[in-house]
Amino acid sequence: MTETIDTAAAEKLLIEERDSVLRQLEEIGADESGQLNGTVDYGDAFADAGAVTAERTEVLRLANALKVRLERANVALGKIAAGNYGICETCGAQIGLDRIEYLPAVRRCIRCKQAAS
Ligand SMILES: [Zn+2]
Repeated sequence: MTETIDTAAAEKLLIEERDSVLRQLEEIGADESGQLNGTVDYGDAFADAGAVTAERTEVLRLANALKVRLERANVALGKIAAGNYGICETCGAQIGLDRIEYLPAVRRCIRCKQAAS
């Protein structure tokens, strides 16, 4: 049985994901690499230096999580452009359609994922 991936639908989801992540990075004052760009001022809002550090740590953690999502979306969009979307990076098998629909940026098939974890 040959399954056909709806790459147009996947691409739409991935672009939405990418745009959403970029918006969130902008909101927290980070650039696309997850670095804080310094436009958010942590100095005045918090009198306590410890609170400033905690806030900054939390923002950095969020920025890193967003950066990972952005990279995944970009990698998947690159695969759609290259015509190899939906192929497992580890074994080269086609990733199941239900898995692709659930996780558009997925990079490995369920067997390789389970083998790795
Ligand atoms: Zn695989």
